Amino acid sequence: MQNRKSNDVLSPTTHINQKNITSFVKVQTKSDYESLLKRLQDKLGNESRKAVSRLEVPTAQIIWVGQRTIFRNFMEFPKALRREPAKLLLYLNKELASAGYIAGERVIFLGRKEPSSFGALIDRYVKDYVICPVCGSPDTRTEKNKKLGFLLCEACGARSSIKANYA
Ligand SMILES: [Zn+2]
Repeated sequence: MQNRKSNDVLSPTTHINQKNITSFVKVQTKSDYESLLKRLQDKLGNESRKAVSRLEVPTAQIIWVGQRTIFRNFMEFPKALRREPAKLLLYLNKELASAGYIAGERVIFLGRKEPSSFGALIDRYVKDYVICPVCGSPDTRTEKNKKLGFLLCEACGARSSIKANYA
């Protein structure tokens, strides 16, 4: 990526001698939500732009501690996206083939997961399970009915099918 700044990845600290810390890497992944929103708006045309309200998606803070990957600010995401933490975690675990668990504000995944993948995964989650595919509004909620999942839009009233696991 051309726009990746060199200071996105801090060099691993080499002088830490604590037993469980083999390296410490902090990467902030910038959300592609703005460009996603723009593409959606372009696709949908001018008439529906007014229906699109802003969604503030936080930046994922990912660090490695030993052989674990810590998603430090995980709990900000369910709040911002108005989804149950367990549903978002289920999605991340499925996509990362992991069994991460919530610990306070964080989620701890076993193994070193690529830090830059989290922003992309969350963007995909927002696109598939938060943004209304009809009008592009992020003001939606999910509903599960007889094992079927739906995305209900509070802006335009559309009811769209989604994977029941994440509803
Ligand atoms: Zn809608």
